[in-house]
Amino acid sequence: MSLYEPEIICETSAAAGDPEITRRRRAAYTPGVSTELRYEDKYDLDFFQSERGGHDVRYIVLHDTEGPTQAAISWWTNPENPYQSSAHDLIDKRGVIWRCVPYDKAAHHVGYSHIPGFNEFNAEDDRWKPNANLSTIGIELEYPRWPDSPPYPGAQLQSVVEHVRSLVLQFGVTRDRIFRHADIDTNGKTDPRNFQWDWFLDQVFSEVEHMLDETARHAAWNSSGIPYNPEAAFSRYARLHDLGKPETQEFDFGFQGREYRGQGFSKAIVYCEVGYWDAIKELSW
Ligand SMILES: [Zn+2]
Repeated sequence: MSLYEPEIICETSAAAGDPEITRRRRAAYTPGVSTELRYEDKYDLDFFQSERGGHDVRYIVLHDTEGPTQAAISWWTNPENPYQSSAHDLIDKRGVIWRCVPYDKAAHHVGYSHIPGFNEFNAEDDRWKPNANLSTIGIELEYPRWPDSPPYPGAQLQSVVEHVRSLVLQFGVTRDRIFRHADIDTNGKTDPRNFQWDWFLDQVFSEVEHMLDETARHAAWNSSGIPYNPEAAFSRYARLHDLGKPETQEFDFGFQGREYRGQGFSKAIVYCEVGYWDAIKELSW
């Protein structure tokens, strides 16, 4: 089930604001694939991968490549790679997302990692069990080899925020279940280097929390029997001016040959001439 239900389109006080912006905002809110993200589908290459062994996706781990995209892609398909390493997705410096291992398979990116609450060290095998690969999605960011440490390009940051947000929504991953490789590795990994971690998490989750709020608001309106349209001029106005909850549906009336529309909120009646959504008037009951 999606976290965010599409708004009910009703013949209400229209969409306030630029329709182009509205469309783009809505696209970004769609769980799953956002229309703005660009993908390179590489699923048919022979990337190292394993079955998940019955484990669900519960965690997301970010890495950096320490080298160019092409080098990483070749390494993850190279029979000489002794670690058989791989990742699900690689986001290159242009922001294009290379899809390598499908999410229903485990990629080999955190084999020596300890995730508290998920795995424990098993002395007999000298390994962490279960293996952290089984329950994680691994995302690599293209980034040059140390000591080269440039800032991440804006297009790449935008992509990683939107892509991880879509995964968060798709798999129900919480903020405390997103890690840097460095956070969980037991072998001294330090990636992703130079990455603005708190900024990144804030970008991902402020939007998710906003969507949750909107979903709650939507449900509250509907439970009062009044359909909610987040972009309707009256509902926006009432929120901005703290007019309380909706008491009526939108209603139409005429005056001197002109058409008006109004709606009652607990603290005031609002109305305007149809089409003049930026000239809303407020009236006591
Ligand atoms: Zn890593």
